[in-house]
Amino acid sequence: MYNLDQLKSQVRQLLFFHNIIPLSKLLKDSMLFPFEYLSSSGKASLPWAINLLVTSKCNLHCEMCSFDASKFCSPNEELSLEDIKLFIKDISKRKIHIFLSGGEPFLREDIFEIIEGIKCSGLTWGICTNGTLLDENKIIKLVKLKPEFIVFSLCGIKEDHDKITGAAGSFERLLNNIKILSSLKNKIRVIINCPITKSNLHRLKEVIEIVETLKVEMLRFEHLNFLTEQDINEHNKVCEKEFSCEKIILSSHFENNSVNDWQEFPKGIERINKEIRKFKMPVYFKPFLNSSEIKSWYSNKFSINRKCYFVRRSLFITPSGDIIPCQFLIYKLGNIKNISLEEVWNGKKYRELRLRLKKGLLPGCSRCCKL
Ligand code: SF4
Ligand code: SF4
Repeated sequence: MYNLDQLKSQVRQLLFFHNIIPLSKLLKDSMLFPFEYLSSSGKASLPWAINLLVTSKCNLHCEMCSFDASKFCSPNEELSLEDIKLFIKDISKRKIHIFLSGGEPFLREDIFEIIEGIKCSGLTWGICTNGTLLDENKIIKLVKLKPEFIVFSLCGIKEDHDKITGAAGSFERLLNNIKILSSLKNKIRVIINCPITKSNLHRLKEVIEIVETLKVEMLRFEHLNFLTEQDINEHNKVCEKEFSCEKIILSSHFENNSVNDWQEFPKGIERINKEIRKFKMPVYFKPFLNSSEIKSWYSNKFSINRKCYFVRRSLFITPSGDIIPCQFLIYKLGNIKNISLEEVWNGKKYRELRLRLKKGLLPGCSRCCKL
Protein backbone atom coordinates (compact mmCIF):
# COMPACT_ATOMS: atom_id res chain seq x y z
CA MET A 1 0.00 0.00 0.00
CA TYR A 2 2.88 2.36 0.74
CA ASN A 3 6.15 3.20 -1.01
CA LEU A 4 8.83 3.41 1.70
CA ASP A 5 10.29 6.70 0.42
CA GLN A 6 6.81 8.21 0.30
CA LEU A 7 6.20 7.02 3.87
CA LYS A 8 9.46 8.64 5.05
CA SER A 9 8.56 11.88 3.28
CA GLN A 10 5.06 12.02 4.76
CA VAL A 11 6.08 11.03 8.30
CA ARG A 12 8.66 13.83 8.22
CA GLN A 13 5.99 16.35 7.20
CA LEU A 14 3.59 14.99 9.78
CA LEU A 15 6.13 15.28 12.60
CA PHE A 16 6.65 18.90 11.72
CA PHE A 17 2.97 19.74 11.38
CA HIS A 18 1.74 17.42 14.15
CA ASN A 19 0.58 20.32 16.34
CA ILE A 20 -2.09 21.35 13.83
CA ILE A 21 -3.95 18.06 14.33
CA PRO A 22 -5.33 17.23 17.79
CA LEU A 23 -3.60 14.08 19.05
CA SER A 24 -6.89 12.28 19.62
CA LYS A 25 -7.92 12.92 15.99
CA LEU A 26 -4.51 11.88 14.72
CA LEU A 27 -4.64 8.56 16.59
CA LYS A 28 -8.25 7.83 15.68
CA ASP A 29 -7.79 8.67 12.00
CA SER A 30 -4.53 6.71 11.76
CA MET A 31 -6.26 3.61 13.10
CA LEU A 32 -9.22 4.06 10.77
CA PHE A 33 -7.12 4.88 7.72
CA PRO A 34 -6.28 1.33 6.50
CA PHE A 35 -9.95 0.33 6.73
CA GLU A 36 -11.12 3.45 4.93
CA TYR A 37 -8.47 3.08 2.27
CA LEU A 38 -9.26 -0.55 1.57
CA SER A 39 -13.02 -0.02 1.62
CA SER A 40 -14.76 0.22 -1.74
CA SER A 41 -16.92 3.13 -0.54
CA GLY A 42 -14.30 5.85 -1.19
CA LYS A 43 -15.35 7.56 2.04
CA ALA A 44 -12.82 9.35 4.24
CA SER A 45 -12.74 10.90 7.73
CA LEU A 46 -13.05 14.68 7.64
CA PRO A 47 -9.90 16.43 6.39
CA TRP A 48 -7.08 17.53 8.71
CA ALA A 49 -6.48 20.74 6.83
CA ILE A 50 -8.21 23.06 4.38
CA ASN A 51 -6.17 25.17 1.99
CA LEU A 52 -8.14 28.37 1.56
CA LEU A 53 -6.98 30.40 -1.45
CA VAL A 54 -8.24 33.81 -0.40
CA THR A 55 -7.28 35.62 -3.58
CA SER A 56 -6.00 34.86 -7.06
CA LYS A 57 -4.12 38.17 -7.25
CA CYS A 58 -0.40 38.50 -6.63
CA ASN A 59 2.00 41.44 -6.59
CA LEU A 60 4.90 39.35 -7.93
CA HIS A 61 5.45 37.57 -11.24
CA CYS A 62 7.63 34.59 -10.44
CA GLU A 63 9.02 32.87 -13.50
CA MET A 64 8.13 29.40 -12.21
CA CYS A 65 4.74 30.40 -10.77
CA SER A 66 2.47 27.45 -11.24
CA PHE A 67 -0.64 29.25 -10.06
CA ASP A 68 -2.72 30.01 -13.11
CA ALA A 69 -5.45 32.06 -11.48
CA SER A 70 -7.40 32.51 -14.70
CA LYS A 71 -8.27 28.81 -14.66
CA PHE A 72 -9.86 29.09 -11.21
CA CYS A 73 -12.00 32.19 -11.56
CA SER A 74 -11.81 35.81 -12.66
CA PRO A 75 -9.58 38.01 -10.45
CA ASN A 76 -12.52 39.90 -8.96
CA GLU A 77 -14.52 36.82 -8.16
CA GLU A 78 -13.53 36.47 -4.52
CA LEU A 79 -15.43 35.13 -1.54
CA SER A 80 -16.61 37.96 0.67
CA LEU A 81 -15.55 38.23 4.30
CA GLU A 82 -19.09 37.24 5.23
CA ASP A 83 -18.93 34.06 3.05
CA ILE A 84 -15.65 33.06 4.67
CA LYS A 85 -16.94 33.73 8.19
CA LEU A 86 -20.04 31.62 7.55
CA PHE A 87 -17.90 28.76 6.27
CA ILE A 88 -15.56 28.98 9.27
CA LYS A 89 -18.55 28.91 11.59
CA ASP A 90 -19.85 25.82 9.80
CA ILE A 91 -16.62 23.85 10.32
CA SER A 92 -15.55 25.32 13.67
CA LYS A 93 -16.59 22.27 15.69
CA ARG A 94 -14.60 19.98 13.44
CA LYS A 95 -11.11 21.10 14.51
CA ILE A 96 -9.84 21.41 10.94
CA HIS A 97 -6.67 23.42 10.39
CA ILE A 98 -6.99 26.37 7.98
CA PHE A 99 -4.05 27.18 5.78
CA LEU A 100 -4.37 30.53 4.03
CA SER A 101 -2.67 31.26 0.73
CA GLY A 102 -3.37 32.66 -2.72
CA GLY A 103 -2.08 34.46 -4.86
CA GLU A 104 -0.69 36.69 -2.19
CA PRO A 105 -3.06 36.69 0.81
CA PHE A 106 -1.87 40.05 2.15
CA LEU A 107 -3.27 41.74 -0.95
CA ARG A 108 -6.70 41.29 0.64
CA GLU A 109 -7.51 44.33 2.73
CA ASP A 110 -9.63 42.23 5.07
CA ILE A 111 -7.02 39.50 5.61
CA PHE A 112 -6.70 40.32 9.33
CA GLU A 113 -10.47 40.16 9.75
CA ILE A 114 -10.45 36.73 8.08
CA ILE A 115 -7.71 35.56 10.46
CA GLU A 116 -9.50 37.02 13.49
CA GLY A 117 -12.63 35.11 12.43
CA ILE A 118 -10.66 31.84 12.28
CA LYS A 119 -8.98 32.55 15.62
CA CYS A 120 -12.28 33.39 17.32
CA SER A 121 -13.80 30.15 16.10
CA GLY A 122 -11.04 28.21 17.89
CA LEU A 123 -9.45 26.77 14.74
CA THR A 124 -5.70 26.65 14.20
CA TRP A 125 -4.30 28.43 11.18
CA GLY A 126 -1.17 29.01 9.11
CA ILE A 127 -0.34 31.19 6.13
CA CYS A 128 1.87 31.20 3.06
CA THR A 129 3.15 34.54 1.80
CA ASN A 130 5.84 36.05 -0.39
CA GLY A 131 6.53 38.35 2.56
CA THR A 132 6.83 41.56 0.57
CA LEU A 133 3.65 43.28 1.75
CA LEU A 134 4.33 42.95 5.48
CA ASP A 135 5.76 45.61 7.77
CA GLU A 136 6.55 45.76 11.48
CA ASN A 137 2.98 46.68 12.52
CA LYS A 138 1.44 43.88 10.47
CA ILE A 139 3.97 41.38 11.80
CA ILE A 140 3.18 42.37 15.42
CA LYS A 141 -0.51 41.97 14.63
CA LEU A 142 0.13 38.56 13.06
CA VAL A 143 2.14 37.34 16.03
CA LYS A 144 -0.72 38.29 18.38
CA LEU A 145 -3.05 36.11 16.31
CA LYS A 146 -0.74 33.12 16.91
CA PRO A 147 -0.45 31.23 13.65
CA GLU A 148 0.86 27.68 14.00
CA PHE A 149 3.33 28.45 11.25
CA ILE A 150 4.16 30.89 8.47
CA VAL A 151 5.59 29.76 5.15
CA PHE A 152 7.69 32.32 3.27
CA SER A 153 8.73 31.86 -0.36
CA LEU A 154 12.38 32.53 -1.04
CA CYS A 155 13.64 31.93 -4.56
CA GLY A 156 17.39 32.10 -4.04
CA ILE A 157 20.17 34.53 -3.19
CA LYS A 158 19.43 38.23 -3.73
CA GLU A 159 20.19 38.33 -7.47
CA ASP A 160 18.31 35.10 -8.18
CA HIS A 161 15.33 35.98 -6.00
CA ASP A 162 14.83 39.41 -7.55
CA LYS A 163 15.25 37.98 -11.05
CA ILE A 164 12.89 35.06 -10.47
CA THR A 165 10.18 37.17 -8.81
CA GLY A 166 10.55 39.92 -11.39
CA ALA A 167 10.65 42.52 -8.59
CA ALA A 168 13.81 44.38 -7.67
CA GLY A 169 14.08 44.77 -3.89
CA SER A 170 11.77 41.84 -3.11
CA PHE A 171 14.63 39.87 -1.51
CA GLU A 172 15.50 42.70 0.90
CA ARG A 173 11.87 43.23 1.87
CA LEU A 174 11.33 39.52 2.50
CA LEU A 175 14.49 39.09 4.56
CA ASN A 176 13.86 42.20 6.64
CA ASN A 177 10.39 40.97 7.47
CA ILE A 178 11.59 37.50 8.45
CA LYS A 179 14.20 39.13 10.70
CA ILE A 180 11.55 41.31 12.36
CA LEU A 181 9.42 38.23 12.97
CA SER A 182 12.37 36.33 14.48
CA SER A 183 13.30 39.29 16.69
CA LEU A 184 9.87 39.28 18.33
CA LYS A 185 10.86 36.10 20.22
CA ASN A 186 7.61 34.40 19.47
CA LYS A 187 7.01 30.69 19.17
CA ILE A 188 5.76 30.81 15.61
CA ARG A 189 7.31 28.18 13.42
CA VAL A 190 8.71 29.62 10.21
CA ILE A 191 9.29 27.56 7.10
CA ILE A 192 11.18 28.85 4.11
CA ASN A 193 10.08 27.33 0.84
CA CYS A 194 12.52 27.54 -2.02
CA PRO A 195 11.54 26.27 -5.48
CA ILE A 196 14.39 24.69 -7.40
CA THR A 197 14.67 26.44 -10.75
CA LYS A 198 17.21 26.72 -13.54
CA SER A 199 18.14 30.14 -12.18
CA ASN A 200 19.05 29.03 -8.65
CA LEU A 201 20.11 25.38 -9.09
CA HIS A 202 23.83 26.14 -8.78
CA ARG A 203 23.47 28.40 -5.77
CA LEU A 204 21.33 26.33 -3.42
CA LYS A 205 24.17 25.96 -0.91
CA GLU A 206 24.28 29.75 -0.61
CA VAL A 207 20.51 29.68 0.01
CA ILE A 208 21.06 27.33 2.97
CA GLU A 209 23.77 29.65 4.31
CA ILE A 210 21.41 32.63 4.15
CA VAL A 211 18.49 30.78 5.71
CA GLU A 212 20.70 29.48 8.52
CA THR A 213 21.26 33.05 9.68
CA LEU A 214 17.49 33.65 9.89
CA LYS A 215 16.93 31.20 12.75
CA VAL A 216 13.87 29.57 11.19
CA GLU A 217 12.58 26.05 11.77
CA MET A 218 12.97 24.54 8.34
CA LEU A 219 14.10 25.11 4.78
CA ARG A 220 12.23 23.20 2.13
CA PHE A 221 13.50 22.89 -1.42
CA GLU A 222 10.58 22.25 -3.68
CA HIS A 223 10.85 20.30 -6.91
CA LEU A 224 9.09 22.12 -9.73
CA ASN A 225 5.66 21.00 -10.82
CA PHE A 226 5.77 20.83 -14.57
CA LEU A 227 4.06 18.77 -17.20
CA THR A 228 5.12 17.91 -20.70
CA GLU A 229 2.81 18.27 -23.68
CA GLN A 230 2.49 14.49 -23.71
CA ASP A 231 1.40 14.43 -20.01
CA ILE A 232 -1.30 16.99 -20.80
CA ASN A 233 -2.59 15.12 -23.85
CA GLU A 234 -2.71 11.84 -21.96
CA HIS A 235 -4.45 13.49 -19.02
CA ASN A 236 -7.13 14.97 -21.27
CA LYS A 237 -7.71 11.63 -22.99
CA VAL A 238 -8.04 9.73 -19.69
CA CYS A 239 -10.37 12.33 -18.21
CA GLU A 240 -12.53 12.45 -21.31
CA LYS A 241 -12.98 8.70 -21.15
CA GLU A 242 -13.39 8.28 -17.41
CA PHE A 243 -15.01 11.55 -16.36
CA SER A 244 -17.00 12.01 -19.55
CA CYS A 245 -19.39 14.71 -18.43
CA GLU A 246 -16.84 16.81 -16.57
CA LYS A 247 -13.31 17.16 -17.74
CA ILE A 248 -10.68 17.50 -14.99
CA ILE A 249 -8.82 20.63 -15.99
CA LEU A 250 -5.19 20.98 -15.05
CA SER A 251 -4.45 24.16 -13.23
CA SER A 252 -1.21 24.88 -11.58
CA HIS A 253 1.47 22.89 -13.36
CA PHE A 254 3.27 24.86 -15.97
CA GLU A 255 4.06 23.29 -19.29
CA ASN A 256 7.58 22.37 -20.17
CA ASN A 257 8.27 21.01 -23.58
CA SER A 258 12.03 20.94 -23.37
CA VAL A 259 12.84 18.46 -20.66
CA ASN A 260 16.21 17.89 -22.31
CA ASP A 261 17.20 21.23 -20.84
CA TRP A 262 16.55 19.83 -17.39
CA GLN A 263 19.18 17.13 -17.44
CA GLU A 264 21.53 19.11 -15.19
CA PHE A 265 18.95 18.98 -12.36
CA PRO A 266 19.56 15.44 -11.00
CA LYS A 267 23.29 16.13 -10.61
CA GLY A 268 22.71 19.54 -9.02
CA ILE A 269 20.19 18.07 -6.58
CA GLU A 270 22.43 15.13 -5.63
CA ARG A 271 25.23 17.64 -4.99
CA ILE A 272 23.13 19.75 -2.65
CA ASN A 273 21.82 16.61 -0.95
CA LYS A 274 25.38 15.87 0.17
CA GLU A 275 25.94 19.45 1.32
CA ILE A 276 22.81 19.45 3.47
CA ARG A 277 24.41 17.06 5.96
CA LYS A 278 26.94 19.73 6.89
CA PHE A 279 24.23 22.06 8.19
CA LYS A 280 22.48 21.84 11.54
CA MET A 281 19.20 23.35 10.37
CA PRO A 282 16.61 20.91 8.94
CA VAL A 283 16.63 21.06 5.14
CA TYR A 284 14.16 18.88 3.28
CA PHE A 285 12.95 18.34 -0.25
CA LYS A 286 9.30 18.43 -1.21
CA PRO A 287 8.54 15.77 -2.17
CA PHE A 288 11.36 13.62 -0.87
CA LEU A 289 12.56 11.59 -3.88
CA ASN A 290 15.18 8.85 -4.13
CA SER A 291 17.91 9.05 -6.81
CA SER A 292 16.01 7.17 -9.51
CA GLU A 293 12.83 9.17 -8.81
CA ILE A 294 14.82 12.42 -9.19
CA LYS A 295 16.09 11.28 -12.59
CA SER A 296 12.59 10.32 -13.61
CA TRP A 297 11.11 13.65 -12.37
CA TYR A 298 13.46 15.62 -14.61
CA SER A 299 12.83 13.54 -17.72
CA ASN A 300 10.27 13.32 -20.50
CA LYS A 301 8.47 10.39 -18.97
CA PHE A 302 7.94 10.67 -15.25
CA SER A 303 6.84 7.50 -13.55
CA ILE A 304 6.56 6.85 -9.85
CA ASN A 305 5.12 4.12 -7.71
CA ARG A 306 3.26 6.35 -5.26
CA LYS A 307 -0.34 6.87 -4.23
CA CYS A 308 -2.35 10.02 -3.61
CA TYR A 309 -3.35 10.24 0.06
CA PHE A 310 -3.89 13.98 -0.11
CA VAL A 311 -7.47 13.50 -1.36
CA ARG A 312 -8.24 11.76 1.95
CA ARG A 313 -6.65 14.32 4.26
CA SER A 314 -7.00 17.76 2.74
CA LEU A 315 -8.60 19.86 0.02
CA PHE A 316 -8.48 23.27 -1.61
CA ILE A 317 -11.04 26.05 -1.79
CA THR A 318 -10.60 28.42 -4.71
CA PRO A 319 -10.96 32.21 -4.30
CA SER A 320 -14.54 31.95 -5.58
CA GLY A 321 -15.47 29.21 -3.10
CA ASP A 322 -15.27 26.06 -5.24
CA ILE A 323 -14.06 22.96 -3.43
CA ILE A 324 -11.41 21.21 -5.53
CA PRO A 325 -9.31 18.15 -4.59
CA CYS A 326 -5.98 19.95 -4.89
CA GLN A 327 -4.49 22.99 -6.58
CA PHE A 328 -3.49 20.95 -9.61
CA LEU A 329 -6.84 19.52 -10.62
CA ILE A 330 -9.75 21.87 -11.13
CA TYR A 331 -12.50 19.38 -10.53
CA LYS A 332 -15.26 21.42 -8.95
CA LEU A 333 -16.96 19.32 -6.31
CA GLY A 334 -19.27 21.95 -4.84
CA ASN A 335 -19.19 25.58 -3.72
CA ILE A 336 -19.04 26.51 -0.04
CA LYS A 337 -21.67 29.21 -0.62
CA ASN A 338 -24.36 26.64 -1.26
CA ILE A 339 -23.35 23.24 0.12
CA SER A 340 -21.76 22.06 3.37
CA LEU A 341 -18.24 20.69 3.43
CA GLU A 342 -19.41 17.38 4.88
CA GLU A 343 -21.87 16.83 2.03
CA VAL A 344 -19.15 17.43 -0.53
CA TRP A 345 -16.35 15.54 1.23
CA ASN A 346 -18.13 12.21 1.14
CA GLY A 347 -20.38 13.01 -1.80
CA LYS A 348 -20.54 10.83 -4.92
CA LYS A 349 -17.98 12.78 -6.98
CA TYR A 350 -15.35 12.87 -4.23
CA ARG A 351 -15.76 9.16 -3.44
CA GLU A 352 -15.47 8.23 -7.12
CA LEU A 353 -12.32 10.32 -7.50
CA ARG A 354 -10.70 8.66 -4.46
CA LEU A 355 -11.49 5.22 -5.82
CA ARG A 356 -10.08 6.18 -9.23
CA LEU A 357 -6.86 7.47 -7.65
CA LYS A 358 -6.55 4.30 -5.60
CA LYS A 359 -6.21 2.41 -8.88
CA GLY A 360 -3.44 4.74 -10.04
CA LEU A 361 -2.54 8.39 -10.48
CA LEU A 362 -3.97 10.45 -13.34
CA PRO A 363 -1.46 11.59 -15.98
CA GLY A 364 -1.97 15.15 -14.68
CA CYS A 365 -0.78 14.02 -11.23
CA SER A 366 2.75 13.71 -12.61
CA ARG A 367 5.36 15.57 -10.59
CA CYS A 368 2.87 16.49 -7.87
CA CYS A 369 4.50 17.92 -4.75
CA LYS A 370 2.06 16.02 -2.53
CA LEU A 371 3.22 12.54 -3.51
S1 SF4 B 1 4.57 34.85 -5.00
FE1 SF4 B 1 3.61 32.85 -5.32
S2 SF4 B 1 1.61 33.30 -6.32
FE2 SF4 B 1 2.90 35.15 -6.47
S3 SF4 B 1 3.87 34.99 -8.48
FE3 SF4 B 1 5.29 34.12 -6.97
S4 SF4 B 1 4.86 31.91 -6.95
FE4 SF4 B 1 3.11 32.94 -7.96
S1 SF4 C 1 -1.60 13.19 -6.76
FE1 SF4 C 1 -3.07 14.09 -8.20
S2 SF4 C 1 -5.00 14.28 -7.09
FE2 SF4 C 1 -3.38 13.89 -5.60
S3 SF4 C 1 -2.81 15.91 -4.89
FE3 SF4 C 1 -1.43 15.40 -6.57
S4 SF4 C 1 -2.36 16.19 -8.46
FE4 SF4 C 1 -3.91 16.20 -6.82
